[in-house]
Amino acid sequence: MQNSDPIWDHVDTHRDDLIALSDRVWGMPELLYGEYRSCAEHVAVLRDKGFTVHEEMAGIPTAVMGEAGEGGPVIAILGEYDALPGLSQVAGIAEPKATEAGGAGHGCGHNLLGSAALLAACALKDWLAETGTPGRVRYYGCPAEEGGAAKAFMVRDGAFDDVDAAITWHPATMTKVDEAQSLANTRMDFVFTGRASHAAAAPHLGRSALDAAELMAVGVNYLREHVPQESRIHYAYLDAGGTAPNVVQARTKVRYAIRSTTLAGMLALNERVKKVAHGAAMMTETKVDISIMSAVSNMLGNTPLEEAMQAAMDELGGVPFDDADRAYAAEIQKTLTPEDIAASYRGNGMEVREGEPLCDYVVPRTAPGSKMMGSTDVADVSWKVPLVQARVSTVAIGTPGHSWQITAQGKSPAAHKGMTYAAKVMGVVGRMLMTDEVLLARAKKDHAERLAREPYICPIPEDVRPPLVPRPVAAE
Ligand SMILES: [Zn+2]
Repeated sequence: MQNSDPIWDHVDTHRDDLIALSDRVWGMPELLYGEYRSCAEHVAVLRDKGFTVHEEMAGIPTAVMGEAGEGGPVIAILGEYDALPGLSQVAGIAEPKATEAGGAGHGCGHNLLGSAALLAACALKDWLAETGTPGRVRYYGCPAEEGGAAKAFMVRDGAFDDVDAAITWHPATMTKVDEAQSLANTRMDFVFTGRASHAAAAPHLGRSALDAAELMAVGVNYLREHVPQESRIHYAYLDAGGTAPNVVQARTKVRYAIRSTTLAGMLALNERVKKVAHGAAMMTETKVDISIMSAVSNMLGNTPLEEAMQAAMDELGGVPFDDADRAYAAEIQKTLTPEDIAASYRGNGMEVREGEPLCDYVVPRTAPGSKMMGSTDVADVSWKVPLVQARVSTVAIGTPGHSWQITAQGKSPAAHKGMTYAAKVMGVVGRMLMTDEVLLARAKKDHAERLAREPYICPIPEDVRPPLVPRPVAAE
């Protein structure tokens, strides 16, 4: 590997500052829409590095955008910094041990995600200034990726209206251009209201909201047989109506997640699940109120940008892990099952290899991964502008998503190497888009063709606001 691209040098210049940011954010895990301290850390670095800062993007207190450069195309680099509940974990060890029992932790590596995106933006900013190239680079600090759909709200409220293309990444077990596959996902709440009564003395006077919620579940479980294969429907009881079996439950609340491979498919499935809820309400003579809490679309690919990112990765080679990185990853692998490890390979379209703790190569784009999919709000940005995403190895092969093992590896030298690599890949793709008009035009044409086949319908209704949480009062 030769250090030949000018972007790589600029990444190296800012690397230590942004690794320090990542480690600080790791140490202050905050949950969806509550990322006040983490966002403030990103704002401070944006100011320190000379970006023009726009706070409270789309009316969200923990969303921020920093911009640098003049004229030319507007290239967005997307970052995140939200954590997950229950994944508190001591860093650098290979056994589960919380820093705070039941506390939050960076079990999806978003401390690295945001910091590497900002690192790429810093490098592009320097390169634009040094070369006098017209172009604007923006870092978008996007909160609440885990269940809050902030980017979908930001898209709806115009935060990306004047962006030409967007680049992002996610920490992963293997290094690969993302295949742009994710499920559209709606989180919908159903509140059933009935009438309480003495369950023994006057059951005929009661109308059970718990019966309604259970009948809805039965109906949905029958519905599963008649939905497209890759659909997913799951639910959780937020309020099962109380703890007294001798009172007919007057109010219940159930949250459903409804997922489909296509946006149109999800919108249609949403309506079918609503019908089941109405049927359950009719059977039980209760009332149902239905509200959407959040929703995201499925990911849209972009072939020209994916090819450009592949070229950037091939130029760099894999993440340059060393023996110490491999030794720690091997310790982590001892906590995993063979199935966990095999799933990493299969998910990336690879044959299983023995005795390989870390991925220090680039998985070719031709390797089709398995269809195991979650959902992400990055998808809604991909419907708004041409977007490409990298997956970069930061954890041991086999490390499951949303796990204590990810939190444990979140400050490791391997993670720092992965985040630096991700910044170089994103920086190079950004530079290509600033200088190669043909590439940008091809990316936009590809995007327009995909939208011509299926138009974008924002999955979040007009009147739904993000579930913001108030700024915590500073302790005296
Ligand atoms: Zn994530």
